[in-house]
Amino acid sequence: MSIDISTLALLTITVAFGLGAMSIALTFHHSGTRGTQGLRHWGRGLVVYSAGFSLLYLYPKFGLPLLYAGWICVLVSMLVMYKALLRICGSGGHRTRFGIAVIGTTILAWVYFGLVAPNPIRQNDVTSVAIGVIAARAAWDIWRYAMRSRFRAPAFAVLAWLLLTSARPLMEVMTRDVHAGDLDPMSLFGPPGMVFFRVLILALLSISVIWLEISRLYEVVEDQATHDELTGVANRRAIVALLESELVRAKRLHTPCSIAIFDIDHFKRINDTLGHPAGDQVMKWVTKVIGKSIRPYDTLGRYGGEEFLLLMPGARPEAAIIVAERARAAIQGQDCIVDGKPIRITISAGVAAWSEDVDSDALLRSADSVLYRAKQAGRNRAELAGA
Ligand code: GH3
Ligand code: MG
Ligand code: MG
Repeated sequence: MSIDISTLALLTITVAFGLGAMSIALTFHHSGTRGTQGLRHWGRGLVVYSAGFSLLYLYPKFGLPLLYAGWICVLVSMLVMYKALLRICGSGGHRTRFGIAVIGTTILAWVYFGLVAPNPIRQNDVTSVAIGVIAARAAWDIWRYAMRSRFRAPAFAVLAWLLLTSARPLMEVMTRDVHAGDLDPMSLFGPPGMVFFRVLILALLSISVIWLEISRLYEVVEDQATHDELTGVANRRAIVALLESELVRAKRLHTPCSIAIFDIDHFKRINDTLGHPAGDQVMKWVTKVIGKSIRPYDTLGRYGGEEFLLLMPGARPEAAIIVAERARAAIQGQDCIVDGKPIRITISAGVAAWSEDVDSDALLRSADSVLYRAKQAGRNRAELAGA
């Protein structure tokens, strides 16, 4: 079976338009966050690409202006898709100078091969090279993004299709004889196999970009669902879930595990005298100072209003009380600067060590009750359950 070039060109137009419309439609129910804006750009790029290809398809009937307009559309669409990728990767870069340089150089080369040394095939090659350069630059940005992301698979998929796109000029030159003459449809779009291959790559690239975007959005949502917005540490749900899994592990491996609950002393007074925003600043500061004083394998989470839960897997009670005491001393030992003014903050801590016969609820209750004891005994102290 063989498919003629005109059918394949129409396939390119419809596939690009369909994928573009789908990418745009996918962003409609979102509220317009950074990532979804990126996907919307990607969709716009594809629609422009489809328009560019439509102009190229019509060029034999309507003449040269359509050829140049079509090529410009295709180049602009590539740059729009590149910008979309930058947005999806969270890069603030615009690459305006790069875009202008690519389009400017391409136009100069078109003029050269149009007027000085007329050769339409060479003009076509110039366009292919420009597309390849944009794809290669985008591939480089995606590579850097992949290197710093947690889940790399979608970025690598996008990278693979971009690299194939950047190899396009090479493939085109290899699959066709270069000769001077009119741009017949075959030379303009390349041999049918090439056109089909390009549509396939475009489709796979778009699906990978959607995958990249979905996985990134999932990461954002997961982050928001497990972290406290104000302080940035694990939220109650996440820290309690972690406590439960640590206890399962401690039971299986017969290792110790301890917890500490910290509570800021007279916090209501801070809110009442300095205002709620000042209270928020104090809370962030306390999180930061406790975070710095703990061991790297311990995890801090916001357990309640101004209460923090510290998980210390592997820690015996003697070690746990030292950690809690160190955090308490760190808070007491420095001023908290609120709106330029230093204020003194203290915290109290209740420490409890896990033993095989207690569950997470009982452990938390026991830490809470010694915290109460610490408050009763005058605050600014760490108490150990059972001691
Ligand atoms: P104590 O020494 O006994 O712990 O006294 P306290 O005033 O700290 O005790 P209490 O637990 O009664 O007060 C906690 C206050 O924390 C009450 C609440 O208004 C405040 N709070 C809870 N969450 C937030 C928050 O996110 N931001 C601010 N600014 N305040 C909060
Ligand atoms: Mg308090
Ligand atoms: Mg409290």
